[in-house]
Amino acid sequence: MTCLNCDGELHEQVVDFSTEVKGQQVVFSMSGLVCAACGYHTVRGEEMAEYMRRAADVYRAQNNLLTSDEIRLRRKSLGMNQEQFAAHLGVGVASVKRWEWGQIQDKALDNLIRIRTSVDDAKANYWLVSEMMQSLAIASLLEADSLVPEVVYYPKKTEVWQTTANLASPAEHLRVDTAYAS
Ligand SMILES: [Zn+2]
Repeated sequence: MTCLNCDGELHEQVVDFSTEVKGQQVVFSMSGLVCAACGYHTVRGEEMAEYMRRAADVYRAQNNLLTSDEIRLRRKSLGMNQEQFAAHLGVGVASVKRWEWGQIQDKALDNLIRIRTSVDDAKANYWLVSEMMQSLAIASLLEADSLVPEVVYYPKKTEVWQTTANLASPAEHLRVDTAYAS
């Protein structure tokens, strides 16, 4: 092939490409065509989709999003084809195909894919939600005046305990205040 820039000869070799995806600089290596005379480099037409996928995957890795390979691996770990996977997530099959070909999923869909494809991610989500609900339960308990705090006197300090009846363990107590004698 001839260089579009200087009519020199293009040779195939591994090229360090640097491009912008969604305003972010991404760098990756893949096979391309390089002109020894002027340094012009490009990819073959049939490699363009692969070029786009790699650029998108570097962006995804930089932004804590699942890469195309990771999405494909997670789908296959469930033994699903693209149609079944789309139904499992509640999206169109075109979306699954596009993600696996390099279109970047947004954060909301990335979260959905993680929770629907990994027991560990589903558990992490379970604990996150549990903790948020427990914090709310404690907050409402502290505001509730129906429970009378139990005051415990020690020689040097006074502790105020409140029974946390709403929590998972009914026997648990919550220390809401401590006063030290001067
Ligand atoms: Zn050239």
